[in-house]
Amino acid sequence: MKRPIYFFFIFSVQCLLGQKIYQQSFMRMGVDFEMTVVSTNEEEANRYIDLGKNEIERIERLISSWDPSSQTSAVNKQAGRNAVAVDTELFLLIQRAVGISRLTDGAFDLTYAAIDPLWVFDGQEKSMPTQEVLDASVAAIGFQKLVLNNDDNTVFLPEEGMKIGFGAIGKGYAADRVKTLLQAAGLKAGLINASGDIAAWGTQPDGQPWQIGLINPMKKNKVFAWFPINGQAVVTSGDYEKYVTIDGERYGHIINPRTGLPSRGVVSATVFAPKAELADALATALFVMGPESGLHLANQLPDVEALMIDASGHILSTKNIVVDALE
Ligand code: ADP
Ligand code: MG
Repeated sequence: MKRPIYFFFIFSVQCLLGQKIYQQSFMRMGVDFEMTVVSTNEEEANRYIDLGKNEIERIERLISSWDPSSQTSAVNKQAGRNAVAVDTELFLLIQRAVGISRLTDGAFDLTYAAIDPLWVFDGQEKSMPTQEVLDASVAAIGFQKLVLNNDDNTVFLPEEGMKIGFGAIGKGYAADRVKTLLQAAGLKAGLINASGDIAAWGTQPDGQPWQIGLINPMKKNKVFAWFPINGQAVVTSGDYEKYVTIDGERYGHIINPRTGLPSRGVVSATVFAPKAELADALATALFVMGPESGLHLANQLPDVEALMIDASGHILSTKNIVVDALE
């Protein structure tokens, strides 16, 4: 489980036209969420926050692979057997997730979930899996194998043991959806933090942009840089909140889909992008790819910036972020 320890917010105390900041924390999707809305009164703020919570629950029912009654579980249950028709919303999310899987050459792979029973990160893992077990687990992974038919919105996993999972993109998607929904409902400014996946819009009550502070867990968890956020998303993937320790070595919950092993060498990957969904999936991918190829990819993508911290605590970033000023 991941807590949003990467992020601190600076809230301005000034209020313009009686606008204030209202904030609520709650658990959804098994993680901590925090919603911040700018409003003139508490009653209105609570209404917006309730709208957001309902939306997160709706998305969870659609994409959860733990909930046996979700459409995602229906797809997984029929692996190797039948194509399953899903709602257009889920179909499009899967299509976009396949797109990001392709873009990252499978470093992010929504079919990574075939490996799920191998790494549960509940402290049960006491030794490394054997090569044989790893080979068998990664054999079922491969977004290229997924069969999507947009005539009838069906999804087919052609091999038994295949599975899709939204662990690395679902919270970002939820953050985007809540933002879109609340904007449509008339909320001019807000910020949603889905356990480190942040989508924001509008400004603070005094007209100042929202500020997101990044901390370096290798350097006493101190904030090393503040970034103003103007309607974008910021997502951080880290390795130290959900992990296992085997033979004194720490293994985090982001898996390299090629090897079946937890990806190591990166402590955190932060991605700035127009959408939290893209930022979420990319942060996971960069984590797997490592700083060199990860930042190379991020440098090619329009409106995307990234910042990574390696195992020695060094901060590396895309070319538009000045690293020297950060450490
Ligand atoms: P966080 O939960 O720290 O925000 P991520 O967004 O990176 O982290 O999501 C990690 C989760 O994504 C894992 O718990 C797992 O469910 C899933 N996952 C792990 N490795 C991959 C991968 N290579 N591609 C897609 N999903 C992954
Ligand atoms: Mg992610």
